[in-house]
Amino acid sequence: MATASMTPRPVAAQPAGQARPESQALADAVDLVEAAIDELRLGSSFRQLLTAPERSLTVNVPVVMDDGEVVVFTGYRVQHGGARGPFKGGIRYHPAVSLEETTVLAMLMTWKCAVVDLPFGGAKGGVRCNPRQLSLTERERLTRQYTMAIRPLIGPLRDVPAPDVNTDGQTMAWMMDALSQASGETMFAAVTGKPVGLGGSLGRSEATGSGIGIVAVELLREYGRAPKETSVAVQGYGKVGRHAARALAGAGCRIVAVSDVSGAWRDPAGLDLDDLDRWIERNPSGLLEGYANGGARPISNEALLELPVDLLVPAALEGQVTAANAERIAAWAIVEGANGPVTAEADRILDRRGVIVVPDILANAGGVVVSHLEWVQDLQGYFWDQEQVDAGLRRRMTKAFADVSALARRRGVSLRRAAYLLAVDRVASAIRTRGVIPPVPAAD
Ligand code: NAD
Repeated sequence: MATASMTPRPVAAQPAGQARPESQALADAVDLVEAAIDELRLGSSFRQLLTAPERSLTVNVPVVMDDGEVVVFTGYRVQHGGARGPFKGGIRYHPAVSLEETTVLAMLMTWKCAVVDLPFGGAKGGVRCNPRQLSLTERERLTRQYTMAIRPLIGPLRDVPAPDVNTDGQTMAWMMDALSQASGETMFAAVTGKPVGLGGSLGRSEATGSGIGIVAVELLREYGRAPKETSVAVQGYGKVGRHAARALAGAGCRIVAVSDVSGAWRDPAGLDLDDLDRWIERNPSGLLEGYANGGARPISNEALLELPVDLLVPAALEGQVTAANAERIAAWAIVEGANGPVTAEADRILDRRGVIVVPDILANAGGVVVSHLEWVQDLQGYFWDQEQVDAGLRRRMTKAFADVSALARRRGVSLRRAAYLLAVDRVASAIRTRGVIPPVPAAD
């Protein structure tokens, strides 16, 4: 049932002046990479190699639904740049999943893994479906069928999937089980983000939020700002935002506003996170809607983004800070929890206005850092305590922030430009050292 298809090579493989990719997100991602390639003077072969995926697979899988009907779902697995190690990246279940979106996200994973210096390349996968319309058993059958369809590409030392939007530890357990059944071996290391007790790692579920907390505190330290005098607004009180708020509150910051799809709540004196969490757990919708306590007042989602806070953490969706609101952003710094929450146009406006932006490929890399720790534990068959995982995450995030920040200062560029320079340089250098592309002549 699986059919391989070549992805159309985006942009850079074509002569200047030819069509740009349809998606703005892909165009923006390619622009950042091309700027880094130019600045590093890497040459045209790298333009082609680094702006297009190494390999793309499109699959069409039949799933027997609970009522006996057979529905064919389309899915993808895109492997972007594998020079530094096995491919790594999440699996998304969403009606908007497309080959182009999967390609952008695969590319982001290559840079994310390189910025935090993990021995992984970037990949992404997804199935176009509406998971809310699928029962648990339908989701399991879909996951097993999709896993078998992409099996030729994945494996512990080839390509290691993880959860993403609308997939979770249970999805990863089904994937691991399907691969184990097919091979006759227990394949813990073939996927990460698994439940603890089934090859999963302690600390994985809060890792992305914890990582955001670590880089935000490093940023404050660098500018001589005290966490105790730092106010924070978090857009998106979900898996990432909730743990980021916890981590920042734990460091002493005041969380003055949070939001989810139901609205935003603000308390200049600081929100009580325990109380918010109790409300969400009791609320049948699992949302903040209806929340009331002390000084917390509802505000609009748009207003949250423009609050006069020290740190703004957009941790919901892409494209939230745009040319339309970038002039009104009053935060001292933005720490990108979501992937791509600031558009390229907004980024230029913020840069001109002196608003610091810690880019997604650095700020939200905590999840893949602990995925790497999970993979290492699976390969060695020996599992660590929370302390060891936390120390590993802290060490890597702190080092990555220091590397990016030092490069940004040295080159006089934004943290985003520096993160891309560092990542592209590391990947290009791995490609060169492997020996396919000859070294640059000394005179170049
Ligand atoms: P999630 O679904 O758990 O949480 C998203 C939250 O955003 C929810 O609370 C939702 O209600 C809220 N939201 C949706 N629309 C909103 C709006 N218009 N205004 C305010 N809030 C809104 O998802 P998540 O796993 O927390 O992921 C969030 C983002 O972080 C995504 O961009 C994802 O790709 C990225 N990311 C996630 C991880 C991870 O480990 N989960 C790692 C890296 C990046």
